[in-house]
Amino acid sequence: MYKLYRTVVGNVAQYDLLLHNFDAPDLGRPPYGPVTEVQAAQDADVLERLCVGHHTQAKNDPRWQTLYGRAQRPLNFIDATGNLVSARHWTYPCHYCGLVLPEELIQVDHRQPQAHPAVAVLKCLHALGHNYTTAPGQGQKTTLLANIAANNVGALQMIRPNARPWDPWQSAFATNAAKQQRYTITNAGKTFLSICCMFWGEKRTVEICLNSILNLATSCAICNGAAGKGSLTHAA
Ligand SMILES: [Zn+2]
Repeated sequence: MYKLYRTVVGNVAQYDLLLHNFDAPDLGRPPYGPVTEVQAAQDADVLERLCVGHHTQAKNDPRWQTLYGRAQRPLNFIDATGNLVSARHWTYPCHYCGLVLPEELIQVDHRQPQAHPAVAVLKCLHALGHNYTTAPGQGQKTTLLANIAANNVGALQMIRPNARPWDPWQSAFATNAAKQQRYTITNAGKTFLSICCMFWGEKRTVEICLNSILNLATSCAICNGAAGKGSLTHAA
């Protein structure tokens, strides 16, 4: 079993892990995945600020509204006389295909399916950086992380849709080496995750990552049900 240690090195409190051997003393061992207490507290605070509560509440969060392009746009209707007319309504583009839909028809998609919550946890860890994963996150939300956490809506920009075609598509997860590195946890990541589980408990830690702004995207019904994307049970 791994044991979480807190030590003070040169007035700096830090945590690290050790595969605990009950028969051998732990003194003098090298630190395994050390994370300073200050860093861990700061990153845990960021994770909490990024959580929208329940994922259905993302649509009420001004940060998420800005990141996913909520705006009034013209929509086409056929009126009672049979003519094509246009009216402006609050809309979002689907993050995957770019289709503009009224906000009531946009689904909030867990980008990593709830059936595999560990992937959502890794997604949050790599966005935090600090060597918690082999390679850091590279998406726009990773770049905007500090402003999202600080609720600095004015500094946020819309994330461009992927504009994928509607054909079924599969995640390149298994074959993409760079992506695998972003989802490979390091020893420091294990230490930080252990601290989170100690602080919040495992269930709450997973919830915070699943319902993180980092993990929720706009989706039309077709893209939300696409192969490799999980099922419609992830929609709201
Ligand atoms: Zn779509």
